[in-house]
Amino acid sequence: MEIKVIDIPVEGLNVELFEEAATFDGLGEDVKALSPVKAFLSLKKVGTTVYLSGNMETEIGLACSRCGKPFEVHAEAGLKLDMVPLESMPREEERELHADDLDVEFYKNGIINLKDFLREQILLQVPMKPLCSEDCRGLCQYCGQDLNIAPCACVPPSGHPGLSGLKDLLGK
Ligand SMILES: [Zn+2]
Ligand SMILES: [Zn+2]
Repeated sequence: MEIKVIDIPVEGLNVELFEEAATFDGLGEDVKALSPVKAFLSLKKVGTTVYLSGNMETEIGLACSRCGKPFEVHAEAGLKLDMVPLESMPREEERELHADDLDVEFYKNGIINLKDFLREQILLQVPMKPLCSEDCRGLCQYCGQDLNIAPCACVPPSGHPGLSGLKDLLGK
């Protein structure tokens, strides 16, 4: 969905978005929006700056960084940022300066593409190392067995001597 900045009335604009998850491409290989992306946004315009606030939610499908198993997380975010025309930042350094600022976004040619914006917001919700569960045991680095399902027979190369002694005792 695209919004022409010039069409935003003085009193502001409230937008309710309900985008089918299937239409969200370009999220990356291991990231999928699973349920429709719902968003309520309020846009206010002062000059060429658009003040955006609101919230969004969806379910995101991820792959566990330890065991590779697909899992889902509920993603919900409050949004609050200023959108300024890219053309108003003539100098490269200035643009980079603002790009570091998470509260500022750019729009091009007088148009705010809300879908691109939401796609970015979804990606911001994705953890660096997604885990299917906090105590996921992952895969054995030697045989590849999923240790959440069953332990494997591989012996760690440097076990704690006290622990292996204990194991011997338990084995008898
Ligand atoms: Zn896992
Ligand atoms: Zn193993």
